[in-house]
Amino acid sequence: MRFLFSCSKAAVLLSSAAILVLLAAVSLKAAPSPADGKKLSIYWVDVEGGAATLIVTPAGESVLIDTGMPGVRNPGRIHRVAREVAGLGKIDHLIVTHMHLDHFGGAAEVAQLIPIGHVHDNGIPDQDPDGNANNRSFPLTIKPYREMKAERRSILRPGDELLERKAPPGMPKVSLRCVAAKQKFAPPKAGAARSKPNPGCDNVEAKPVDTSDNANSIALVLEFGSFQFFVGGDMTWNVEAGLVCPLDRVGQVDVFQVNHHGLDVSNNPILVRTLAPTVAVMSNGISKGCGPESFKTLKSTPSIKAIYQIHKNLRRDSENNTLAEHIANPAEQCAANHIELSVSADSKSYTVSIPATKHSASYASQ
Ligand SMILES: [Zn+2]
Repeated sequence: MRFLFSCSKAAVLLSSAAILVLLAAVSLKAAPSPADGKKLSIYWVDVEGGAATLIVTPAGESVLIDTGMPGVRNPGRIHRVAREVAGLGKIDHLIVTHMHLDHFGGAAEVAQLIPIGHVHDNGIPDQDPDGNANNRSFPLTIKPYREMKAERRSILRPGDELLERKAPPGMPKVSLRCVAAKQKFAPPKAGAARSKPNPGCDNVEAKPVDTSDNANSIALVLEFGSFQFFVGGDMTWNVEAGLVCPLDRVGQVDVFQVNHHGLDVSNNPILVRTLAPTVAVMSNGISKGCGPESFKTLKSTPSIKAIYQIHKNLRRDSENNTLAEHIANPAEQCAANHIELSVSADSKSYTVSIPATKHSASYASQ
């Protein structure tokens, strides 16, 4: 018995040692590192001339910016990209940049398809946000958005930071900061060169005042180490100038989501040139957006190496289109192809792809 006991004791000691070795091996393998495949991803969903941009951080925190139009089609497309492409079970944050139907319209239906955590917007108006007294149906139009299921709701203000999860160990920090809302701007970031007067502001021309809710759009800057992305909803000309003149409150970015689907009441050259992006992505429709002036500005901005469009512009002014390989949906009967961007774990480079056409191109972060 004694022998057996000591033998089994030795066996226990041996097996404990083996377990420790095994645990050490497992913990070594499980140690989080950038090589684990964690990355920052951005998806532009085709919502036919609306906007729906999905961001997933390396910590798995997800942000949907705008939701396209109401109905089955757009919310269904957003849901498919969120679940099947990004692998999400929940959208942590929804940001509605302004109260136009092509931005808030799909929200209530998206919320029925996938749980939504925190909803951020400019505040829900009781009447038409463009001041159109004849639009008596607005209270009914906004009702599903007002009543949609969400865990929390907040009004976003310039300077607010949205993300809550910490970056995985060894990876750069991610922040998503509101830089403009309701025509008010966040102060330039402390200590940044951005707080200097912008030398390009001397000859900026104003356009007639925009009294629509487009001017009130929320604008955001996503920052992940060296990588920066600007998204400004349907912000219009004079407000765009105000954001970067006389002080540049944003600074240089890598990727610019072309404002307002590429319409010419937006995309003031002073904004585009100050942001100095390498890549521009346009959420346009077959006949909406992709305006000649906006296109001219994008093409003549020296920093821009590639312009991507969610749709081919099928109007008569077909010269206002980017390279065929940079268009996600070239035909009228579209397949709802999305554009995808993935930033490397060290944030120093990023790849823009159109998975359906197998297009893929990489760019260095600035
Ligand atoms: Zn819009």
